[in-house]
Amino acid sequence: MNVKDQAKLIIEKFPRNHEERDPFRVLIRTILSQRSRDENTDEAAERLFRAGYDNPEKLASAKPEELYDLIRPAGMFRQKARRIIEVSKEILKRFGGEVPDTLEDLVSLPGVGRKTANIVLYVSFGKPALAVDTHVHRISNRLGWVKTRVPEQTEIELMKILPEELWGPINGSMVEFGRNICLPRNPKCALCPLKEECPSANTKG
Ligand code: SF4
Repeated sequence: MNVKDQAKLIIEKFPRNHEERDPFRVLIRTILSQRSRDENTDEAAERLFRAGYDNPEKLASAKPEELYDLIRPAGMFRQKARRIIEVSKEILKRFGGEVPDTLEDLVSLPGVGRKTANIVLYVSFGKPALAVDTHVHRISNRLGWVKTRVPEQTEIELMKILPEELWGPINGSMVEFGRNICLPRNPKCALCPLKEECPSANTKG
């Protein structure tokens, strides 16, 4: 099976649906998700948005302390509160209150890296964008698709070998796959649909 077919298999077996597509909410949620488990991110984002902080105007005029309790479940809540306020101010000041839809503009926002920017580009704007997080980086190397040391390199290499239509969906599906089967430690190779193809498969356990 070639790389494209392996990627399609992962996308098919580990689908991820993005219910939230509003660019501002997706951006803020992705910032909150940094080093946070999914369920904790969901709780923090929901509390924040339910309290009315779901638009740049409201968040830009907030004081960090107002947000602490709301986003505490996501961890690093002081830093994240400052970050989402700063991002909101920049969106108002430089982009007229609209989340920008280019990689260049998105990464110019404070604390927004390529991964976050690419998630927004794909989920909210439907653009071909490849978000490489720790799961995508680890699994692509285990499967022998790439031989890279850092996610930035993985992004460049994957863009060469995967067709554009798979760039967006591969992130969410790799996250699901990485959480359930290809775990960071002790991957469950015996249950993996790619165990026959994978050079890193541990078939003893
Ligand atoms: S065989 Fe094991 S290491 Fe390879 S992709 Fe599957 S779970 Fe990961």
